Amino acid sequence: MGTPLETPEAQTEELIHRLHEKYPDTTISLTFSSRLELLIAVILSAQCTDERVNGTTAELFEKYDGAGAYAEVEQDELASDLDSITYFNNKAKYIRSACQDIIDHHDETVPDTMDELTDLAGVGRKTANVVLQHGHDIVEGIVVDTHVQRISRRLGVVDAERPEAIESELMEIVPEGEWQQFTHLLISHGRATCTAINPDCADCGLNELCPSSKLDSDIDLADGEEWWSLWESSYH
Ligand code: SF4
Repeated sequence: MGTPLETPEAQTEELIHRLHEKYPDTTISLTFSSRLELLIAVILSAQCTDERVNGTTAELFEKYDGAGAYAEVEQDELASDLDSITYFNNKAKYIRSACQDIIDHHDETVPDTMDELTDLAGVGRKTANVVLQHGHDIVEGIVVDTHVQRISRRLGVVDAERPEAIESELMEIVPEGEWQQFTHLLISHGRATCTAINPDCADCGLNELCPSSKLDSDIDLADGEEWWSLWESSYH
C-alpha cells in the first residue's frame, strides 16, 4: 500500500499541497447571486449533482424573487418546478418553510450563525457551513460532503465514519486557513480521479501516500471493504 506520512497532520499538509498544485482554482460549483439563492441551491444539492441543481435553478431563480415568493407559492407548484431534483417534494417543503422562518424571524435575511441556520428546515451543519463560508465569509467549520467523507478516510487522515465526527477530526489536523479550500480540493479530486467506484489510482498524484491505493492495497479504507466487493455491489 502507499505509505502515509508519520502523522495525520503531516499527511494532511502534504496532500493539501499536492492538491493545490493540481486544482489551483477550485471553488464552489453551485450558481447563485444572493445568499438566499445560495441557501436554496445548497438545500437542493443534497444527494443531487451540482450540475443538475444549476440546470434547475437557472429557471427557478428567474421565477422566484425573494423569500416571500417561495413562502407564498403552493407546495405542488414549487415541487413541480423542482421535479428533476432528487427528493423534490421534501426539498420544496424545506424551502417554503425555511423562507417563512426567514421572513418571520430574520427580517427577510439569511441568518449568519450556525445555530440560526441549522434551525431552518432542511439545513444541517454541512449546508450551514457552505452558507456561512460562501454567503457570509465566515469559516467556522469544514464542509464534509460525500467526497470529503470518502477521500479523507481513504487517505487515512480520519477514522470517524459520520460526517460531523469526520469534521471534528479534520478541524484538529487541517490548518484553519485551509478549512474552506480543503473541501473544494477533495471534491475536485473526487470528481476527477478518486471517484466512489473504481478510482484511477494509477493516475493519482497521491498514490504513494495513500493506504487505500489499488496499486498495492486490497482494502478501500473508505468503508473497510475489499475493492472488488465495491465493484461487485455496483454491478448487481
Ligand atoms: S485515487 Fe486511489 S490512490 Fe488516489 S487518493 Fe483515491 S484511493 Fe488513494
